[in-house]
Amino acid sequence: MDFGDNVWRNGKLIKSEDAKTSLMNHALHYGSGVFEGIRCYKTERGTAVFRLQDHMKRLQYSGSVLEIKMPHSVEDLCQATLEVLRANKLESGYIRPVACFGEGKMGLNPHGADIDVFIAAWAWGKYLSDDPITVGTSPWIRIHPRSLQADAKINGHYVNSIMSSQWAHNNNYQEALLLDYNGNLAEGPGENLFVIKDGVMYTPELGTILNGITRATIMQLAKDELGIETVEKKLLPEDLVNADEAFFTGTAAEVTILKSIDGNQIGTQENEISNKLKNLYADVVEGRFAKYDDWLSYVN
Ligand code: PMP
Repeated sequence: MDFGDNVWRNGKLIKSEDAKTSLMNHALHYGSGVFEGIRCYKTERGTAVFRLQDHMKRLQYSGSVLEIKMPHSVEDLCQATLEVLRANKLESGYIRPVACFGEGKMGLNPHGADIDVFIAAWAWGKYLSDDPITVGTSPWIRIHPRSLQADAKINGHYVNSIMSSQWAHNNNYQEALLLDYNGNLAEGPGENLFVIKDGVMYTPELGTILNGITRATIMQLAKDELGIETVEKKLLPEDLVNADEAFFTGTAAEVTILKSIDGNQIGTQENEISNKLKNLYADVVEGRFAKYDDWLSYVN
């Protein structure tokens, strides 16, 4: 896989082949880092990054949860991202900022380890399918909010997502769905969930899920463009089984419609509202909707 020729690391652009780390990197042993996943799109005005500031703010927030003293401001991280995109000549793709405890310290208290911050960017197409997907309920529950801080994007949390993704793959589902510790619907391994019933849109309330930037985008588009308010509340597995439509949202997954849950087809699969939102989202991220241009950071 080609991960781009250049990477920004600790304040400067370097060749990816020169970006090395020690085997004694703290995050490599314990997952003690935070990260983001951001997409950039080809638009008529050149490449643009979607909601760049919001992603960098969440990176800073996640860093603060893990007591990573970020040596760069949100604005510096945004500029650095645009620098990498220009250097790698990316038209569209995926951006991965990471801030972690690096070298210089072992043991579970990371204080004293170097802080390593980098931003990589490479071409990455569809994460899930463009067509509706089959989903299975993972036997692994989403991390308990009193074990870990569920709304921080901490590397180590993602073992929970990895195990669920592996389970889905091993059981011939295209993606997993995780319940929370009370048996309520939570989210996918890297996606938030929406269900639609009788024209009303629902999504699991915050608390055990990541506060997704695509989730917020879709709630705003549904309200402003379709006049549909989203109800954020606790939802049960039955709410998904009996839904008229359901979809996942995420930076990587964008809007991915669910075809079935645990082998049961969801609704009639006409997916009228979901398809409208999927198309609206594509229009916004690809710069065809002037009203939402503030969400785009143009590379040039
Ligand atoms: N939930 C989890 C667990 C995720 O990893 C992601 C991807 N960041 C999402 C939801 C969707 O978040 P966003 O829309 O901000 O990409």
